Amino acid sequence: MVVGARSAVFAPLARLGAIIIDEEHEGAYKAENNPRYDARLVARARCNLSGALLLYGSATPSLETFQRAEQGKILRVDLKSRVAGRPMPHVTMVDMRDELAKGNRSHFSTLLERELALVKETGEQAILFLNRRGLAAFMLCRDCGYLVRCPSCSVSLTLHRGGRLVCHHCSHLEPVPPNCPSCRSRNIIAVGMGTQKLEQDLEEHIGNYSVVRMDLDTTSGKEGHRKLLDRFRAGEADILVGTQMVAKGHDFPNVTLVGILSADAMLSTGDYRASERTFQLLTQAAGRAGRAGKPGRVVIQAYNVDDYSLQAVLTHDYAGFYRQEAAMRQKLWLPPFCHIGMVMLSAALPDMLEQAGRNAVDFLGKQAEAYNGLLVSECMPAPIPLLAGRHRMRILTRHAQTRALKEVLTALLDTLQKPLAVMDVDIVVDIDPGSMV
Ligand SMILES: [Zn+2]
Ligand SMILES: [Zn+2]
Repeated sequence: MVVGARSAVFAPLARLGAIIIDEEHEGAYKAENNPRYDARLVARARCNLSGALLLYGSATPSLETFQRAEQGKILRVDLKSRVAGRPMPHVTMVDMRDELAKGNRSHFSTLLERELALVKETGEQAILFLNRRGLAAFMLCRDCGYLVRCPSCSVSLTLHRGGRLVCHHCSHLEPVPPNCPSCRSRNIIAVGMGTQKLEQDLEEHIGNYSVVRMDLDTTSGKEGHRKLLDRFRAGEADILVGTQMVAKGHDFPNVTLVGILSADAMLSTGDYRASERTFQLLTQAAGRAGRAGKPGRVVIQAYNVDDYSLQAVLTHDYAGFYRQEAAMRQKLWLPPFCHIGMVMLSAALPDMLEQAGRNAVDFLGKQAEAYNGLLVSECMPAPIPLLAGRHRMRILTRHAQTRALKEVLTALLDTLQKPLAVMDVDIVVDIDPGSMV
């Protein structure tokens, strides 16, 4: 038996009998660098070739896989109950607009504060989940609206302890400016909240809790990840605070409460999978509560409480979520109802980039005549239009068949890669990319 991450799918086994892909909905199965393979598709091809069994496991299947089961292309087997017959956790949603209206300006709802106190009283543990790192999301000037951004990337800098501002994309570091760089006002403030701030509040303001914080900043270094989890499992802290990595698969027998702060923060990422990712992450996070004989409670804090991806988490209703999401994707002609071929262009000089974009769109437009149903978008700025000093634009192509996209995009690379290299323009193509940004 070979156990491994994504690349284990290439393990040279002479008599392959089965491939099991656990948590098949995970985006990490799709490689983000060349070769941009999808381990789930490689597994499918290998199993077809050798007549082996392919098994996908997930409590929140990707839309692509669930649709194939609905169409009868693969067999679906439902687990009707949780391990050892444990009950589903009880999920409550708090509308943070109501909290604000009641005069609660804290990041913790009254309900979540009460539940945390209860957990401490009974000697149990809690996990608080926040989809953000650092002390605050960003630094904003209250007078002119200036937002402190990374000089090499078009993203805002995140405030970390010790007054440092950090870019989470290129690791650029700078001190917090004393005045607004634009209007010189001193009214420049930290907005939002990250894991560090949350840890501070829990320890100092709302109740002397002992906290273990787990995010990319605390888990770097060998074994960093395991040590933190071991400390929490051994009962050395009341609360585990973390980003999405705490949502995944860990089993802590003494955890009876899971709190999810800003549950809807991910809905506005601009990726067509935003709802799917939100539903999956919240369901996985909620699943951390009450796993060893003790019933679990989950408190979800959000502003967009009526959104169907949040409502479906409340009722543990995957099928209901799938129906709504699939209907929306069909209407907008998005995967799994088509395939997407993304062309990402990047260059140091914006003029070169725009010229390259026009060339690529022209080429693809001519191809569209030969491929019935090929849709080619305009060349638009990418959701992150500047990254590590390079400007980025993208073209999205869509077709019902991956084969058509493969042929068209191969022809595009064959024709344009060399002339674009001379212009110092990089071109990357990706079919059904894991991330659209
Ligand atoms: Zn200003
Ligand atoms: Zn940067």
